[in-house]
Amino acid sequence: MCSGVYHQLAIKEIVLWCLLHFFLLLIKLIVAAAKMFWTALLSNSIVLPLKVAVWYHSHSHVIFAEIAHSDADLMNQSLLGVGLHRSKKAPNASHP
Ligand SMILES: [Zn+2]
Repeated sequence: MCSGVYHQLAIKEIVLWCLLHFFLLLIKLIVAAAKMFWTALLSNSIVLPLKVAVWYHSHSHVIFAEIAHSDADLMNQSLLGVGLHRSKKAPNASHP
């Protein structure tokens, strides 16, 4: 009987440990996502003018397509940034 009580206690501790580590992992993922966002935005901001410079000198259609690609990525990331910023706002009456 005693070992059964200890067994139940151990399971509860394991479940609590798993829940705690799940939430810690979730927090780490959120922090990593924010870092990834800024890294992607910075790298695209550097790559885009480089592609424009290469296209200016080469007039390559492939590089022009790459410019459109980087431009779309930048706009996409800007929208993501707006979403991340707005998601940090406190809830109010119209948006609980
Ligand atoms: Zn892309």
